[in-house]
Amino acid sequence: MTRFCKNCGYENKDEYDYCAKCGNPLVEGLKPKQVFVYQKEPQLNKKAVLAAYIITIFLSWSGVVSTLFFKNNSMATFAFFGFFMPFYLLQAPVRKLKMHAIILLVISFVGVGLSFYLMLH
Ligand SMILES: [Zn+2]
Repeated sequence: MTRFCKNCGYENKDEYDYCAKCGNPLVEGLKPKQVFVYQKEPQLNKKAVLAAYIITIFLSWSGVVSTLFFKNNSMATFAFFGFFMPFYLLQAPVRKLKMHAIILLVISFVGVGLSFYLMLH
């Protein structure tokens, strides 16, 4: 049997006396737990962010580069892969990472747009 929290509705394990989500007592007569969990926003891995930028720019601008320098416009469809990283990062729980994801999305939109413009002209 699981213990549902009366306060937030969270489904707690049977052996828990306090709600794992909000700290509300699950057993009658227990005093509320006065525990404040200070959650520090995790530090961004700068190398990973840089890698995300490189991958996104490489993928989404590949159509532009290949069309301009190699006169090969078949890479434009490949540019769509540039959207994967930003959309993946948008789901990140860290606010700073989401900000980077939005910047990356703009970069890929421009890159993909240009790739297709060049492909069709
Ligand atoms: Zn709760």
